Amino acid sequence: KRRGRDLVHVYSEKDRDSEDLRDTIEWIHQLQQAIANDQIILHFQPVIHCKTGKVAYYEALVRLNIDDKLIYPGSFIPALERADDIKLLDHQVVGKAIKYLAEYPQIPRMAINLSAHAFSDEKLTPLIEHKIRQYRVNPKRIIFELTESASLTNLAGTVRMIERLTQIGCDFSIDDFGTGFSTFTYLKQLPAKSVKIDGSFVKDITTDPIDLALVRAIHDIAKSLNKVSVAEFVEDQETLNLLIELGVDYAQGYHIAKPASIDNFIEPELDVSKLISTAL
Ligand code: C2E
Ligand code: MG
Ligand code: MG
Ligand code: MG
Repeated sequence: KRRGRDLVHVYSEKDRDSEDLRDTIEWIHQLQQAIANDQIILHFQPVIHCKTGKVAYYEALVRLNIDDKLIYPGSFIPALERADDIKLLDHQVVGKAIKYLAEYPQIPRMAINLSAHAFSDEKLTPLIEHKIRQYRVNPKRIIFELTESASLTNLAGTVRMIERLTQIGCDFSIDDFGTGFSTFTYLKQLPAKSVKIDGSFVKDITTDPIDLALVRAIHDIAKSLNKVSVAEFVEDQETLNLLIELGVDYAQGYHIAKPASIDNFIEPELDVSKLISTAL
């Protein structure tokens, strides 16, 4: 797949010596072990409500602990997707995230990322419902982020899953909005409450007029469809000020807070309101 589309490659002995392939197979094996042995760590990054400066929710971001090193999603999610092991990761993350919600009542709401594969996974909806019951968590505290950058092969199934989980109180957000294959189709078909504008459009709005126009346009579209807008990759105060000016509803980024382990943000409590008062 990496060599390009529409190519057939016949496996031969010499492939076994190819470092590339050995790396991939060994790497995938290591990843599978890590997931099976529960070496999964969730970090959390706050998302603030622009009008009030209050933390509206925390996004759970997965890392793997391999040989005492933290491995970030960029270096394992593509490999897991190749091996079709991504579903297993999603199951573990969902279980852990919902357990945290039960253990930390001070977390107002939590966003959980799901891969596009999750939506063709018949077992996931029942698992989510089971975990919610098991840990007695209010489903209204859960937001699922569906990344738009992967193509959805099962649109009807996805809509069914979103409708089912919306019925019990969960919210959905279209993540990485603007980078996908069928942006407007998703916007039209998926019953999501919010649109998370991809960070690549957000991070340079103070200097790049094209990015600024795009972010403004995405926010306006979200508004006219009765959805809320969220901006990620807010890396400085000027960007936050401009987003507030545009009317963007929620913001997230290194300028507000970096992702951190659960103990780091619970105490001491994050004081973000001053970010907003300087902006208004
Ligand atoms: P995402 O959901 O769009 O998450 C945002 C990513 O941007 C996170 O990277 C976060 O650490 C990073 N980020 C946050 N603020 C800033 C900023 O101001 N500037 C910059 N440059 N980056 C910022 P991370 O944690 O490496 O995650 C990457 C992607 O991996 C996520 O993108 C999401 O698509 C995926 N992912 C993360 N956790 C999970 C998970 O539990 N399950 C699944 N299926 N995917 C996950
Ligand atoms: Mg996300
Ligand atoms: Mg993103
Ligand atoms: Mg995102």
